[in-house]
Amino acid sequence: MSHLQFADDTLVFCEAEEQYVRSIKELFLTFQAFSGLCVNYKKSGLLMLGKDEGWILRIKRMLECTRIQLPFNYLGIPLGANMRKAASWQSVLDKVQKRLKSWKCSSLFRGGRLTMIKSVPNSLPIYYLCLFKVPRKVADDIIRIQRKFLWSGDKEGKFMPLVRWELVMKQKNEGGLEVGDIAVKNIALLLKWWWKYGTEDDQLWKKVVKSIYQEDNGLIPSKLGYKCPGPWLAIKNVVNNQQPLSMKTMQYLRLELGNGERIKFWEDPWLQEGILKNLFPQLYVLSRQQNTIIARMGWFEGRRWNWVLAWRRELSQEELKQVDELNTILQQHQPVIDGKDSMLWDAKKNYTIKAFQQAVNRGSVYDSVICKAWMKLAPPKVEFFLWLALLGKLNTKEMLWKKEILQANQLGCPLCSSQSETENLDHLLVHCPISWSIWCTIAEDLGQVITVPMNFRNHFQEWMSRQWRNIIMRKIWCSAFFAVA
Ligand SMILES: [Zn+2]
Repeated sequence: MSHLQFADDTLVFCEAEEQYVRSIKELFLTFQAFSGLCVNYKKSGLLMLGKDEGWILRIKRMLECTRIQLPFNYLGIPLGANMRKAASWQSVLDKVQKRLKSWKCSSLFRGGRLTMIKSVPNSLPIYYLCLFKVPRKVADDIIRIQRKFLWSGDKEGKFMPLVRWELVMKQKNEGGLEVGDIAVKNIALLLKWWWKYGTEDDQLWKKVVKSIYQEDNGLIPSKLGYKCPGPWLAIKNVVNNQQPLSMKTMQYLRLELGNGERIKFWEDPWLQEGILKNLFPQLYVLSRQQNTIIARMGWFEGRRWNWVLAWRRELSQEELKQVDELNTILQQHQPVIDGKDSMLWDAKKNYTIKAFQQAVNRGSVYDSVICKAWMKLAPPKVEFFLWLALLGKLNTKEMLWKKEILQANQLGCPLCSSQSETENLDHLLVHCPISWSIWCTIAEDLGQVITVPMNFRNHFQEWMSRQWRNIIMRKIWCSAFFAVA
């Protein structure tokens, strides 16, 4: 590769020999003479590897440009830094902190802060998250910044979270706030490269990666190949480890068998049943066809495929039984002579970050009542309040007493000024005579009859489940709940 261009930037590569540098300079001068466009050497940088200081100084003088050293930033990405070290991510953390500080956070309500934490830390380091595996420590630091900001704004010192962070991170239809987990997002973004790898054969980046890492023609990055440290190695390993999330990810990544030219029989995930190497570990050890593509594991008789399995030695009775099992699976699958191997995510020929999140979240329990808090009928701060109330996590006097902030004699309800009633969530929002009379008035105005519910959650459920023939009336009815709450 001799050069790369992006927008108004040009990168020129050459071997560290004086004659090469000299001819490049001549080339620039010729270009200048012909086009009238000249290179601004003062703004250009020279990076050299593997040469002594004297040589570097001489070349620098010849080109009259500044000298740059690794690591440096190019298009916002640090080049040459070891991104497995938490220290290399400090600038990202600083940026997130600074961005949140720059807002008048103390004046933002929680609804607004929620929007901020979702947008800022999730979008700022995205450049980095697309390319590098975020170290666990950095992910934890970002989460700490998000948590602190959500619950206490920019106030210094300790903060009091009202809801577990695991729930806050979850999708709204699962009862969470959809803040998301930065580590999950990171894997989703890195996996995108697997997708590109399998689909963008003619792209320059793929050619470069293939040649550096000595990758074969497979649809997914091979586990073999050259282990040169760098972003690609981390991307390759993103799901090739035994972490729970990686294992879950592998359940959804599948290769669809075409002619079998780009799928490895034992190692690749091309069967619903799983990866053959893991299903038949004993046979895998004995196979003479490790790392062999499917197309070379049999032959076509007309359009019919015959599997051929080869072993290192004669198989025992027990092993033959396993081969029978394997054959039963293989009978249901065969390459198609003019087919093309392809990649599937969750049975679809398309990979998106959203599809990734949906797949890995599948099977988690969700709270159908709480997710109704986000019907976009009220400003975010009201929705947030309702969400807390439905979870029973409002800081009422009773709650503050449990947290040992208030004394037992300070718990009276401020609305009905009754000292015998404790200000807890259900009393304050439903059972207190003053609150209840408001609910009744609204219901009456809209021509509905309501009965005293057991608690606030039931009240909300009952209110929201009313059937309305008129869609606008339904909206008004639902909004009324938010207005009162
Ligand atoms: Zn009361």
